[in-house]
Amino acid sequence: MLRIAIQKSGRLYEDSVQLLKECGIDLRNVKDRLRTEADNFPLEVFFLRDDDIPQYVEDGVADIGIVGENVLFEKNKQAEVVEKLGFGKCRLSVAVPRGQQYEGVTSLQGKRIATSYPFLVNTFLAKNNVQAEIHEISGSVEIAPGIGLADVVADLVSSGSTLFMNGLKEVETILQSQSVLIKNNQLSAAQQQLLDKLLFRIRAVKKAKRTKYVLLNAPNDKLKEIISLLPGMKSPTVLPLAEQGWSSVHSVLSEDTFWDIIEQLKAAGAQGILVVPIEKMII
Ligand code: ATP
Ligand code: ZN
Repeated sequence: MLRIAIQKSGRLYEDSVQLLKECGIDLRNVKDRLRTEADNFPLEVFFLRDDDIPQYVEDGVADIGIVGENVLFEKNKQAEVVEKLGFGKCRLSVAVPRGQQYEGVTSLQGKRIATSYPFLVNTFLAKNNVQAEIHEISGSVEIAPGIGLADVVADLVSSGSTLFMNGLKEVETILQSQSVLIKNNQLSAAQQQLLDKLLFRIRAVKKAKRTKYVLLNAPNDKLKEIISLLPGMKSPTVLPLAEQGWSSVHSVLSEDTFWDIIEQLKAAGAQGILVVPIEKMII
């Protein structure tokens, strides 16, 4: 049995449960539970506050966990990152009141900084030889300058709209973060085997998200050119169409090059291009 710790409620909850689901793991009665067992995988799930997850994994109370890098690095616990998961993306940034002059990190000298990330902020200040006063607060950090509690803040940002609404501007990025899968340092061989099985599925799901299955019709005299544009997993599948002189071409495209290649395919004479999502991809 492998025990995984995930956030009980909050920004990482939905994506964490969804990832397990996409890995074919069915959880029973997820709502309002502290723990549950999967029906079809030897996995026990603990629902916890995200702040507690690194400690639980370090102590081996949970074998693995899903947590933001921001929390993992702030807590500075012994747990190994095994996979970046691509969700919960945000950054820990320093923001100052919009009217305030800012000329680089030295402008933070002697300031009062409100943050929920004292360790990361201290490390950042020390690295830049800046002395400042850290005020640790656990929530609504962005209102601190407005109520006179601090001069500047160091807080998590994704779109920046919360900062904007509070009259703040982002001036430094301390850390780029996303959620990661972490593991305890002393897993048994059996647990490691289960983790490998889970990781295999997670990677297949992640890979599928970045790729699309493309089907198109091509006149046979353009086939060569069209095929040369397609990377595919091996080579594209080519099937004759009922209409003489035409073929159907199937291939897999990565998200990064997707639009460029589609344009080139059209220009080369491809028609009826269909793009479909891929659920899992095993290579
Ligand atoms: P808990 O009750 O579990 O302690 P929380 O209030 O600390 O919850 P959430 O606000 O749910 O935490 O955020 C959880 C994680 O989501 C953050 O630690 C971070 O990794 C990620 N995240 C992504 N974008 C943002 C954002 N804009 N603001 C805050 N967190 C974000
Ligand atoms: Zn938290």
